[in-house]
Amino acid sequence: MHDTIPPSYRSVINREWRPSAVYAIRYATRPTALRREHFYGHDDCGDNLMPIDYFVWLIAGPGAAILVDAGFTPETALARHGREHLGSPLEVADKLGYPLESIPSVVVSHAHYDHTGYLPALSGARIHLQQKELAFWTGPHAKQQMYRDIVDEEDVVTIVRSNFAGGVDLYDGDAWIAPGVSAHLVGGHTAGTQVVRVALPSGEVVVIASDSSHFYENEGARRPFSIAHTVPTMFDAFDRLGQLALRADGGSGILLPGHDPAVKDLFPIALADDPTVAGRLWRIA
Ligand SMILES: [Zn+2]
Repeated sequence: MHDTIPPSYRSVINREWRPSAVYAIRYATRPTALRREHFYGHDDCGDNLMPIDYFVWLIAGPGAAILVDAGFTPETALARHGREHLGSPLEVADKLGYPLESIPSVVVSHAHYDHTGYLPALSGARIHLQQKELAFWTGPHAKQQMYRDIVDEEDVVTIVRSNFAGGVDLYDGDAWIAPGVSAHLVGGHTAGTQVVRVALPSGEVVVIASDSSHFYENEGARRPFSIAHTVPTMFDAFDRLGQLALRADGGSGILLPGHDPAVKDLFPIALADDPTVAGRLWRIA
């Protein structure tokens, strides 16, 4: 892992910048989802309801924030059955004091449609992505229907265009995004799925697992999600999450799954006095 900050960040996120808080922003939900959609292979209770929430995450710091993932838009929610859009995650970021111009970076965990939708709106932010992820979606298998169905073609094109313009940092493995914030290739769910580790000055560690564990149950019960690039690598990813969550004091930090409604009950509501963000914002640490 290199220990320098990419030159492009020095104007906004410099060596003095440190992450001060991590927020989960819930931008959509699908209450009619079923258990069998969330686990690889057969599930005895597969027809039971198991609602799924959709999040992006904001890593806050003095004067600038890093976004992890870019959600999907209300138009996509309409086009894809059953999804209820709750409002732009960028509006919520603004309410937290981070308007677009204070978000210099967006780390994209992987390129599925529900993680890329606001990238066009974030055109001023650098995109941090794994090489393997972009290679897959611009490679020979992207034409297969099961893969095409799960990305938004225009979002992939947005990433490619941004790359030509010098706006994408592509990694092969582990990388520093900013002081205290690192990205880690785990693969499994997609060819280049990455997770984000945030080490807060308090000593607390937050690992944003995103879709390397959609629900706590995927990681906790060692049951990979239904959509898999390589299943054995998903098990390796579960192990890696545990390692990355270790704090300097030997304790375990906080793991944030990609889509688990339990996040709403486990962490305190942020901006609780603001009804415009009700049901959409939690302070993780
Ligand atoms: Zn997802």
